[in-house]
Amino acid sequence: MDMMRELKNGVVAPSEGIGKWERAAWDVGVEVAGPNADDVDRLARFPHESLAAMRDAGLLSAPLPEEFGGGGANAAEMACAVRALAFHCASSALVLGMHTNEAFNLGRHGTTSPLRDFTREVAKNQLLLANANSEVGVGGDVARSICALNNVQQPWTLEKEALAISYGEYADAIMTTTRSSPDAAETDQIYVVLRRESFTLEPLSEWDTLGLRGTCSRSFRIIAEVDPGLVYSAPFATMANEGLGQVQQLMLSAVWVGIAEAAAAKAHAYVRAAARRSVGVVPPGALRVAEIVGELQAARSLLITSAIRFSSFVEGSEMSTANLTITLRDLKVSTSKLGVSISRAALEVCGIMGYKQDSPFSLLRIIRDAHGGLVMVSNDRYLHVNAQLLLAMKTL
Ligand SMILES: Cc1cc2nc3c(=O)[nH]c(=O)nc-3n(C[C@H](O)[C@H](O)[C@H](O)COP(=O)(O)OP(=O)(O)OC[C@H]3O[C@@H](n4cnc5c(N)ncnc54)[C@H](O)[C@@H]3O)c2cc1C
Repeated sequence: MDMMRELKNGVVAPSEGIGKWERAAWDVGVEVAGPNADDVDRLARFPHESLAAMRDAGLLSAPLPEEFGGGGANAAEMACAVRALAFHCASSALVLGMHTNEAFNLGRHGTTSPLRDFTREVAKNQLLLANANSEVGVGGDVARSICALNNVQQPWTLEKEALAISYGEYADAIMTTTRSSPDAAETDQIYVVLRRESFTLEPLSEWDTLGLRGTCSRSFRIIAEVDPGLVYSAPFATMANEGLGQVQQLMLSAVWVGIAEAAAAKAHAYVRAAARRSVGVVPPGALRVAEIVGELQAARSLLITSAIRFSSFVEGSEMSTANLTITLRDLKVSTSKLGVSISRAALEVCGIMGYKQDSPFSLLRIIRDAHGGLVMVSNDRYLHVNAQLLLAMKTL
């Protein structure tokens, strides 16, 4: 892997990144996702135009292996693409990030012949992949399922009360955890691919939220026929430890870093405008911007170094070490907190111009979206698992 290129991608401003996929995502953000972001947020509607532009740019197939018609992008390249899009519209970036996680998993663990065929189809037709893992009754503890596959009779079926399925109504396929049979223990989980034509969704809630409103992550009862060929052969726990969990943390963190970059950019533009008005005077907010930039570089560096480390482990198949697992959970916790603190600091720099909705320096959507980072997989949940692992480690 060309580490210098990856670094140049992830530590500099996304507009100056040199990676192919980061550039493509930045262009989608500038031309389509950004101009529509406020409308998407206000109406809590799905960013259809962003999805169409992502498809045109080949971003949905980018994370799939080249041998199946994909773009062959690695996790670091995709993290940079997701952060570039998040600068303009966090909801659109989350769609790309969650899709990317499923696409990587398909490329890595979709080893059966029907799943290989499906992979080729996803690449060829730029299909959109969603997931329905959290469940009513277990919350964010995705290592347990109440839902069970009914494989006692033909056709196989399942019914699940999903806590949240982002863009479930618009996805071409939904991946979901389920117990492997009606008698299986709640941790005996498999992972199945449900194609659009094989399931129905009954909404159990609206999606009227503080932020990330364009993800349209309603609760749904999902009622599906399960194609035995589209069941991953590895248990869900294996995949969660060998890529799925780690990539999720990288992609979510990329969104929180992109949000932080958007907030910092507003603060920076605000003090530069003030400096132009009073040539020779350093505006008071400039000091705060200097502080923000320090935090931003920390967020960027955490993201890109973790992504590079993960990508090198993928090649060396060492990705499920406790150390990397802890690091990636911490990455998500740290970047989500930095997203909140940077966006709040940017508000203090921009003052009332940041507080107002109808201002070029408005931070309303950015601040609300940033707070989604704290709950989209609870930080406390990650910290508690890390706390347990750390007790068993001799060194940090
Ligand atoms: C924008 C958005 C999009 C989403 N999209 C999807 C999706 O597409 N698919 C999907 O499956 N899910 C999705 N989710 C759900 C998400 O992944 C989490 O599972 C969900 O937010 C968890 O719900 P919860 O707040 O009840 O958290 P829980 O993790 O159940 O936690 C509830 C409370 O208990 C505390 N807590 C829980 N466990 C522990 C613990 N072990 N230690 C300490 N404290 C704990 C938490 O801090 C929190 O206060 C989405 C969520 C959001 C916000």
